[in-house]
Amino acid sequence: MSTDWSKRTQAVHGGTRRSQWGEVSEAIFLTQGFVYETAEQAEARFIDCGPDEFIYARYGNPTVAMFEQRIAALEGGEDAFATASGMAAVNGALVSMLKAGDHVVSAKALFGSCLYILENILTRYGVEVTFVDGTDLEQWRAAVRPETKAVFFESMSNPTLEVIDITAVAEIAHSVGAKVVVDNVFSTPVFSRAIQQGADVVVYSATKHIDGQGRALGGVIIGSREFIRGTVEPYLKHTGGALSPFSAWIMLKGLETMALRVNAQAETAQKLAEALEGHPELVRTLYPGLKSHAQNALIQSQLGGKGGTVLSLDLRGGKPAAFRFLNALTIPVISNNLGDAKSIATHPATTTHQRLSEAQRAELGITPGLIRFSVGLEDAGDLLADLRAALDSSAG
Ligand SMILES: *Cc1c(COP(=O)(O)O)cnc(C)c1O
Repeated sequence: MSTDWSKRTQAVHGGTRRSQWGEVSEAIFLTQGFVYETAEQAEARFIDCGPDEFIYARYGNPTVAMFEQRIAALEGGEDAFATASGMAAVNGALVSMLKAGDHVVSAKALFGSCLYILENILTRYGVEVTFVDGTDLEQWRAAVRPETKAVFFESMSNPTLEVIDITAVAEIAHSVGAKVVVDNVFSTPVFSRAIQQGADVVVYSATKHIDGQGRALGGVIIGSREFIRGTVEPYLKHTGGALSPFSAWIMLKGLETMALRVNAQAETAQKLAEALEGHPELVRTLYPGLKSHAQNALIQSQLGGKGGTVLSLDLRGGKPAAFRFLNALTIPVISNNLGDAKSIATHPATTTHQRLSEAQRAELGITPGLIRFSVGLEDAGDLLADLRAALDSSAG
């Protein structure tokens, strides 16, 4: 294995460990525990557990370790810790490093459960949290202070697809010694260069593009070896957020095809966004790959111009039009996952962001007519015809 390999090669071979049988496909070590040859070996392993040694699956497991090393290599991080879900990863990354009296600055456009951790959990344990408009660098500058231990944001926000400047926010955070924690789901591991751009910790919900086929929950925290093994591992191994070996195997197989899937999905998303922009039933077509996107220059530099696999459509007729649109779709399913092989349409205001107040939704641009559309692997022409027909139906 080489650190010089490109993402595509890492995604297929990174982290591979073969048993004595020399299997081609990664083995699933569906075991909770590990046998020691002697009492002395057990004692030694509890004193100092080497990278190829295991004690208990809550601490680590060979299949899980393969997934951790593969995603770390792909992302350009030193090490990774895999978790039972994306939320276990967000919680693990933040709670493991914070204590009462610390301060966190976070972008306010967040996935609902991320917002809950910052707003309702951290604050309960004496961590102060300041929310800013993540696209406004002046607000980040004004919010950081000497007690700021971490800044947190989604590099591309859900569902309004604003992009946050990782390099610029990292410079501000590092000026006060704060760690930069990026929830990178919408940027995807395929287009991300977050660590090279200044992120200290990158978090993924593997449930999304890494599995990519809607089968299993998972998450991962990627960072320096010191942070992963010194800070994250002690917290997670004792609090029980471990990924199951079976799910790790699903994620390993998902990584092999991820670049092919995500590139194809992003290409279709770009086509659909370009074709639908300016449609008379739409007030806004939000897609980071569109030239009209407010942050086009940043998208070029941060993501190589790639807009990801999700677009959002804001229907002129509000909630009734959005519901007529959803009910008229024949190919995409109505659901709330994203990054799946199947296209998925979501009405954020009544589902994923229902918990927010109307004022909070309005502030985040989550209008009653907004549809989040996760582009799958279907034929682009079929999807476009279906979306156009549903937009016609939405007029009522
Ligand atoms: C889905 C998602 C999560 C949570 O992931 P789970 O695997 O569902 O726990 C966190 N952040 C973002 C941006 C997400 O899209």
